[in-house]
Amino acid sequence: MEKERKLIIAGNWKMNKTVAEALSLVQGIKRELASVKEVDVVVCPPFTALSEVSKAVLESSIRLGAQNMSEHNFGAYTGEICAGMLKEFSVRYVILGHSERRQFQVESDELINKKALAAHAASLKPILCVGETLAERESGRMESVLATQMRGSLAGFNKEQMEETVIAYEPVWAIGTGKTATAQQAQETHAFLRGLLGKLFDDSVARRVRIQYGGSVKAANARELMSQPDVDGALVGGASLDDRVFADIVRNSI
Ligand code: PEP
Repeated sequence: MEKERKLIIAGNWKMNKTVAEALSLVQGIKRELASVKEVDVVVCPPFTALSEVSKAVLESSIRLGAQNMSEHNFGAYTGEICAGMLKEFSVRYVILGHSERRQFQVESDELINKKALAAHAASLKPILCVGETLAERESGRMESVLATQMRGSLAGFNKEQMEETVIAYEPVWAIGTGKTATAQQAQETHAFLRGLLGKLFDDSVARRVRIQYGGSVKAANARELMSQPDVDGALVGGASLDDRVFADIVRNSI
């Protein structure tokens, strides 16, 4: 079935890969996916490998993403990286609000929102992550948790900025655990998020925004997940660290 929105599949390499390893991985992905035009493929290496990976993807259809950025544009923020620095390496996307940063760096929706607005100001597209914990899902609070994350992190966006944003629905209980949401659970939640975008913006914006699923995506479950009408791609962690496995996910999604 023809999808309404172009699929976007991004690999989040997290804190893995030296520069040499990153180069070998991206060369493999290029080799495997040279002929794939149906899907936007994005790789998100650690900051230290952006420079070399950026050169490696020049003149290919693979796009570059970063895993985080500062909400500030410059200045005395030791250890931080700003949007302008990412732009030097032709970075197009930036993952914001990943649950690992919400958990370990205690990032709030307000901070994620500031980062997202700074990303838009620099014409970087946020891949904005939202997701509930298992306790929140099981106690019936999933929708209110997701709505709070969405309202908080999308505050002040205009319609154009929203359309340039990718939402990644990543149930925290499915990240790195091997437990995947069923295709039906993913579809129901994506439909809920799209409905919310309709209320926060309008139906035309809601129809255009791509919503990725993330959480233990692998080659074996990609086809069923991606065939859901409101699932527009995947944010892939562990399975993006091997070129053949990642390429199989992309191929199985088409
Ligand atoms: C992620 O960290 O964004 C993720 C989805 O990880 P994994 O695919 O390993 O569950």
